[in-house]
Amino acid sequence: MIKLYNTLTRKKEIFRPIKLKQVGLYSCGPTVYNYAHIGNLRAYIFADILKKTLEYNDYKIKHVINITDVGHLTSDQDEGEDKIITAIKREGKKLDINSMKQISNFYTNAFKSDITKLNISHPSKWAKATEHVEDMISDIKKIEKNGYCYETADGIYFDTAKLKNYGKIAKIDIENLLHGARVCVNPTKKTPTDFALWLKSTPKNKNHIMQWDSPWGKGWPGWHIECSTMSVKYLKQPFDIHTGGIDHIPVHHTNEIAQAQAINHKPLANYWVHNEFLILDKAKMSKSKETFITLSTLIAKNFNPIAYRYLCLSAKYRSPLSFSWQNLKSSQNALNNLYNTISSYNRPSKIIKLYQKKFQTAINNDLDTPAAIAIMWDIIKSNHKQADKLATILDFDKVLCLGLDKIKKQAKIPAKIKKMAIQRQVMRDNQEWEESDKLRKQINKLGFDIEDKPNGPSIKKRTIN
Ligand code: AMP
Ligand code: ZN
Repeated sequence: MIKLYNTLTRKKEIFRPIKLKQVGLYSCGPTVYNYAHIGNLRAYIFADILKKTLEYNDYKIKHVINITDVGHLTSDQDEGEDKIITAIKREGKKLDINSMKQISNFYTNAFKSDITKLNISHPSKWAKATEHVEDMISDIKKIEKNGYCYETADGIYFDTAKLKNYGKIAKIDIENLLHGARVCVNPTKKTPTDFALWLKSTPKNKNHIMQWDSPWGKGWPGWHIECSTMSVKYLKQPFDIHTGGIDHIPVHHTNEIAQAQAINHKPLANYWVHNEFLILDKAKMSKSKETFITLSTLIAKNFNPIAYRYLCLSAKYRSPLSFSWQNLKSSQNALNNLYNTISSYNRPSKIIKLYQKKFQTAINNDLDTPAAIAIMWDIIKSNHKQADKLATILDFDKVLCLGLDKIKKQAKIPAKIKKMAIQRQVMRDNQEWEESDKLRKQINKLGFDIEDKPNGPSIKKRTIN
């Protein structure tokens, strides 16, 4: 039984999937106008732990992450310019489609490389906004047909007053909003919470180089329609779980829900699970303000990216996490300590059921990773056989993904084996193939594999299958 905190109900609920042992999971992806900062990466470490916890409980996951390469304006409230255009200007590139593609491809690849370094598994589907504009237009037409939007000189706006329950997830009270809680900058909106589904090309926004034909003239989609269209396209409506950072609750997710409701009169997702922020110097770490730390910053300071994963797991995903170099150093020390301990253990044997049960209970309890990590250290301190401790910890690492299997593979190679490998290399250099092959077989019998690489042989212990 897995329990998750559902922002829709503000309660920890038992997770019940729509289809037996299957989960449709959607995570709001990065806006690819800059490197992801480590705060953004916390959101994907959290989604990864959620996914691995579900897998640990034998669910099959279909996971979709979008890539926002159009439509996200510098203000979440339909104001400012497209963030990709800001990036083109920042990098002094020519304002054309080519530069736009260069920017978004470059930062998409940087993002994928970051998450790989953090042992975050890639989704079943990366959904790129610019490749789904036709689908978005088709959804906006449905919203129009059902009477939930209106046209102004600069766009098509969702009419939030028409939707009973608008803002339920964010507990937004529309009546109060009219008295100024969310400032309305665009005077053509009927209600401050109304938002753009489609923005028209006008002389005022002539810099916007990404434009598509639509029934409302040339223009481009709003940011929120991307996620509701792409999630439903790949996961159907409703799907099981939608994730994102808490900043998305009041605007982006509220609006995704409204759009999906206006199209199909059904909820978009059954569980909305949000991670709290990573805080730097008590302030929100902001990608647009350029005051952010990237994974490359950590690597340049000789930190293992997995130490950052460890740091994130040492806090509950629903608690704010203060970042400091000292915290990261402590996580790096704990991780090194873990790696050293694991490398001294022998071949894994039996999983210790009692600890496995405790671990599963912890992660199934709304992903309590600090408790799960504490259980791992309890095992290390216990009097169980090393081989059983190892088997149990490697089992936990299916969820924690601290790279312990790799550490075991790189475990110490005895001097005798190293010597035999050198002898074999000499034989190979002298083209004594039969002899060198015999020696390789002897090495294998002693429990090691040898692989010939361009820069010399690599030896691995056969502890993990
Ligand atoms: P963005 O690329 O700005 O659309 O954000 C990508 C993801 O990072 C979203 O799920 C955000 O909610 C999340 N996010 C942004 N800033 C932080 C932060 N400081 N800590 C944790 N998550 C964040
Ligand atoms: Zn989204």
